[in-house]
Amino acid sequence: MHMVVDVERMLRVRTTPGGKVSLTALQAKFVRMVALLIIKADELGYEFTFGDAYARSGHMDKSLHYSRLAIDLNLFKDGIYKYETSEYKELGEYWESIGGAWGGRFGDGNHFSLAYGGRK
Ligand SMILES: [Zn+2]
Repeated sequence: MHMVVDVERMLRVRTTPGGKVSLTALQAKFVRMVALLIIKADELGYEFTFGDAYARSGHMDKSLHYSRLAIDLNLFKDGIYKYETSEYKELGEYWESIGGAWGGRFGDGNHFSLAYGGRK
């Protein structure tokens, strides 16, 4: 079964009639971005398992995990866990190309977020 993904539509953010973007609309866009990242990883022969997405504690002060705008994904290739930031680079660059902020820029390769309020 083949599924067609409309990337442009997936990356659109819902706005209010007044043109504003709510936090919920951003969070929903972030989820669609993660879907695209997972598809890209699959195309490149990688697999992910989930780390933290939304969290109530355990991350840096003001972390976007507390705002539902960050996810940690564990990378595997041929069943082997990849934990070096450099091993996430291709996916990190893809994530940036669709508007995301990649934690690999600050030594946290498995962290993918949507920058918000000056936070990553
Ligand atoms: Zn994280």
